[in-house]
Amino acid sequence: MAAGIIRRLDEAVVNRIAAGEVIQRPANAIKEMIENCLDAKCTSIQVVVKEGGLKLIQVQDNGCGIRKEDLNIVCERFTTSKLQKFEDLASISTYGFRGEALASISHVAHVTVTTKTADAKCAYRATYSDGKIKAPPKPCAGNQGTQITVEDLFYNVITRRKALKNPNEEYAKILEVCGSKVKPCQMLEPYQTPQQWTTSDPSLGMLLADRLVESAALRKAIETVYAAYLPKGTHPFLYLSLEIVPQNVDVNVHPTKHEVHFLHEDSILERVQQHIESKLLGSNSSRMYFTQTLLPGADCSSSEVVKPAANSSAAAKGASDKVYAHQMVRTDSREQKLDAFLQPANNPLSTAPGEAPAQGSARPRDGAAGPQDVEMADVGAPVEATPRAQEDTAVSAALGDSGHLSPEAALPRKRPREDADTEMEEDDSRKDMTAACTPRRRIINLTSVLTLQEEISSQAHASLQEMLRDHSFVGCVSPQWALAQYQTKLYLLNTTKLSQELFYQILIYDFANFGVLRLSEPAPVYELSMLALEDPESGWTEEDGPKEGLAEYIVEFLKKKTEMLKDYFSLEIDEEGNLVGLPLLIDNYVPPLEGLPMFVLRLATEVNWDEEKPCFESLSKELALFYSIRKQYVIDEANPTNSQTEDSDSGSTKWKWTVEHVLYKAFRTHLLPPKHFAEDGNILQLANLPDLYKVFERC
Ligand code: ADP
Ligand code: MG
Repeated sequence: MAAGIIRRLDEAVVNRIAAGEVIQRPANAIKEMIENCLDAKCTSIQVVVKEGGLKLIQVQDNGCGIRKEDLNIVCERFTTSKLQKFEDLASISTYGFRGEALASISHVAHVTVTTKTADAKCAYRATYSDGKIKAPPKPCAGNQGTQITVEDLFYNVITRRKALKNPNEEYAKILEVCGSKVKPCQMLEPYQTPQQWTTSDPSLGMLLADRLVESAALRKAIETVYAAYLPKGTHPFLYLSLEIVPQNVDVNVHPTKHEVHFLHEDSILERVQQHIESKLLGSNSSRMYFTQTLLPGADCSSSEVVKPAANSSAAAKGASDKVYAHQMVRTDSREQKLDAFLQPANNPLSTAPGEAPAQGSARPRDGAAGPQDVEMADVGAPVEATPRAQEDTAVSAALGDSGHLSPEAALPRKRPREDADTEMEEDDSRKDMTAACTPRRRIINLTSVLTLQEEISSQAHASLQEMLRDHSFVGCVSPQWALAQYQTKLYLLNTTKLSQELFYQILIYDFANFGVLRLSEPAPVYELSMLALEDPESGWTEEDGPKEGLAEYIVEFLKKKTEMLKDYFSLEIDEEGNLVGLPLLIDNYVPPLEGLPMFVLRLATEVNWDEEKPCFESLSKELALFYSIRKQYVIDEANPTNSQTEDSDSGSTKWKWTVEHVLYKAFRTHLLPPKHFAEDGNILQLANLPDLYKVFERC
């Protein structure tokens, strides 16, 4: 085969080939033009396109403009106002410097430049073809800045034109460029963009010296780190601004300057990876969810005196409570609760049991006489109708509704014993006022009980108490767990443990002042004991002897304690050994009676009957355990094995209603949360809502 003849290529052909490298599609041209606008220090850019930029691209800015003298060569290859010597490259701060963009565009399209500098009297317009100005610039009207119009892109490159026949696709690419190009710049400087830029995915690129660039190596390195944290197939959104001494960056890899190389690339990658890794480890709240049991800001070492709720009004709240506008989140639980998402067809309130009037709730906590007290006295409740002289506010904080009985739920207590030997006293000053028919509160001066009360109040955690008092109930997660919001934080609370503590505290603070819940049918202690012993949970073994014998013994044993149980705990056992009454600890609350057999067994076996204080304490603990909401006694109700699904619905609705409207309501005013709740995971802070919202904003 004969050797070919070498000829010099026609300049126009060279330029057109080169142009194809810089300008591959309308979006590239727009990117170059926007960069020129930014280099011209504009504050506004308008982009107009027709047919995906193939018919027309018009980019207008309000930047410095182009001097009339320069218009002759502005579209020639390698003409630029941004670089003079090769060394300038090391300190370049503009997007452009190669003087190739306009030239390239003019080789593949018809270009018109209209421009006015600040000191020119008028604007000038010129048109270009193949890098050359077609005619001397013409004066015209115009504002300061530059408008460049590009028409019929690739009119002279048939193959390219054919390849780009879908204007919609090109339009999408243009939006992508505008989003990724201008948005990051806006973050750096407040460029006004009259157009609605749509964001593309800037995770694909990053800004280097405020320039959006690609670095495949860096991108891979970062994705490797995230892969350990994100679900498969998802990608991070990352805005990475690298500041690297210009000497260490080679931006001159490609005419589009889209790609850069760094020196010391490996060590830069490693540092970036390490930094991201450390941040991810430290701020992953889903990890905190499981490991963090110590509440932030919960200083358990403090022996701060718990203020009664009534005294710590909003005005008295510390400055630390201040919620700034940008942190504001929903705090009114009525607006939206979990149930709204979980059971759209079911309104728990409409099926709520008893629709109890709010009698107990708004009652003044210091026991001051008020209309509600009078009302309660009317229904025969053994409540105190007069202010107590007691100063111990912590004690009074836990006193309250338990004395209030609804007529059908319980009978009024009998008058307290007036036994001279007892350590209990009547409040003599009130004797006349509360004479015959209105039972009144017995003042307890038993050292054992007073000590137990003190133990509770000394362990109380002031800020947890505040949280409980002012929380918004969000919803039940399960019978055991519920969500509540306080200020801008979301908490997960162990309803079982909190309710257990609540009942214990009521038993200690309201000692000997309970109403009675009458059982509709007397429950034989013998049968209850047998049921409990048959439960593997009882731990009964052959060695313990026959169950019947044990059950007999329990009946006889408890019969000996009936007077004390009845008098102090309203736990009533009749002469035949039947359980007939239980203490009414809070209104509208009946303990899960499925727990009754085990309670009776534990009453006989777990309570310390020998010494006064341990006796009251352990007995109260057993009662509190029995009264608490426990999942084994609730789930059965919600998921019965029988087919009566309607019942199951109301069953599950009922416990949820009770948790929210009875238990959490009582937590507000009647519970002095012990400090350990802040440490043992029974009250967990899940999220700080403003942070959470920020995460959602990004999605
Ligand atoms: P580069 O940006 O690399 O200098 P270009 O071909 O993109 O090369 O632009 C050539 C020159 O035209 C620029 O150096 C600049 O002086 C001038 N120019 C282009 N667009 C504008 C504009 N919008 N405003 C002011 N000057 C511009
Ligand atoms: Mg440029």
